[in-house]
Amino acid sequence: MSSKSFILAVIDGLTPALLERGLEGGRLPMLQALVEEGTYATGVTVFPSLTPVCLSSIATGAYPDVHHIPHLSWYHRGKRRVVEYGSSFPAMRAVGARQALRDSIFNMSHEHLSPNAATVFESIEDAGLTPAAINFTCYRGRTRHAIKLPGLASRNRWYEAVYGPKRFFFFNLFESDVTGAPIAVRSRLEGSIDAYAGVVGRWLVTRDGFDFLVFYLPDHDYASHLAGPQASIDALTRADAAIGQLADAAGGLDELLDRYAVVVCSDHGQTHVDASVRLQDSFGDLDVYPGRRRSGPEGFDIVVTASNRCGMVYRLEDCRLDIRALAERTDGARGLDVVLFREDRVAVARRGGQELRFRPESGGWRLDGDPDVLDESLYPNALERSWRALACPNAGDLIVTTADGFDFVDLGGRSHVGGGSHGSLGVSDSTVPIIGAGFDRSPLSDRPVITELAPLALAHFGIEPPASMAPAAEPTRA
Ligand SMILES: [Zn+2]
Repeated sequence: MSSKSFILAVIDGLTPALLERGLEGGRLPMLQALVEEGTYATGVTVFPSLTPVCLSSIATGAYPDVHHIPHLSWYHRGKRRVVEYGSSFPAMRAVGARQALRDSIFNMSHEHLSPNAATVFESIEDAGLTPAAINFTCYRGRTRHAIKLPGLASRNRWYEAVYGPKRFFFFNLFESDVTGAPIAVRSRLEGSIDAYAGVVGRWLVTRDGFDFLVFYLPDHDYASHLAGPQASIDALTRADAAIGQLADAAGGLDELLDRYAVVVCSDHGQTHVDASVRLQDSFGDLDVYPGRRRSGPEGFDIVVTASNRCGMVYRLEDCRLDIRALAERTDGARGLDVVLFREDRVAVARRGGQELRFRPESGGWRLDGDPDVLDESLYPNALERSWRALACPNAGDLIVTTADGFDFVDLGGRSHVGGGSHGSLGVSDSTVPIIGAGFDRSPLSDRPVITELAPLALAHFGIEPPASMAPAAEPTRA
């Protein structure tokens, strides 16, 4: 147990490759200093490698089978409607922009996230410590925060209050303290959200205002979607500067690391895409919801929710094809890669017409069929990540990913062609950099998974992780 406080900084969409290039080019003074003072590892994220899923895994220390957030865009079987957390503005409009905002800002943390998946914020506060979060979208905690804009809330049928970490700063909707930080969402491309986080973080460090802080920096992902994952170095330098403000507030890096253990990670990677594909086109003879009508799925065969590099297919009761027949429709389709589904309590992965069947067995995996379908060098930790994605009760009956260079067209007709995208099982979407500094010994295993971060933070304070969290991995690094 350590007397230091703990900072977890999350740079959205950062790949190990871009971080390493930025370090070599001398453009990231703060991250450089943290790597020199600490340790650096290449970790793996969960699947689908999309922000709502990954941030929920960081917050709960669990995979989607436990936290229940399946995708950025998914079909709610109970409510019989599509949930869209924000693939694009047209996709949000396609399902109703107000509903999409309600889902992403409020419902994800309060209704969709499983109540059985304890968050790191809840566990920290239950131990009598002070958790804090800035702009982190999976935020469920123990302290009630009234919305700052009650007029806007009542017009849009938003929640009047949410439960978040004790110190909670969420864009300009919730602020537990008056910090004077400006917010300007319209200049997103210039890094206005990260700049806000930097000012609030500086305010918190100056006051020693927390035991545990999640410092979330989303602007890099936004820039990388537009320009591509090799061209977002300017956004990364701004994220570096925002973390640097924490050190400035402490009086320098040494002072920061005297007071805080610091982890910097990403939630997922990104891949350059130069073509797009519509998942719906594999099912042209079926009635596919939402399509043009969005009043309800009655009378349709399937629901397709595709976004970025992952898609879900939900079979509705009247569909004449079974799940295997639906999966085989994607065999050989241009731009598609792996399709996953479950059959008789076994997971099935198909790629290029080849098939691998797998299930957990005595601490390992029982495999039948062609193991190259989920080759570890192409698809890191694919068995566990696929199994747990399929076991999420909100996942589709099929989960489909795109091939290298391809992006799915979302519900609003948009894709990221010419830029970056993510969501698949592939290496560049799935691997993330993790830096740890200010620890007595390296906290990271050789191949850390992002689910290890919440139990790592709890272990730092001597708190027993709740049963819903994966146990903290034994550090294997010197
Ligand atoms: Zn993204």
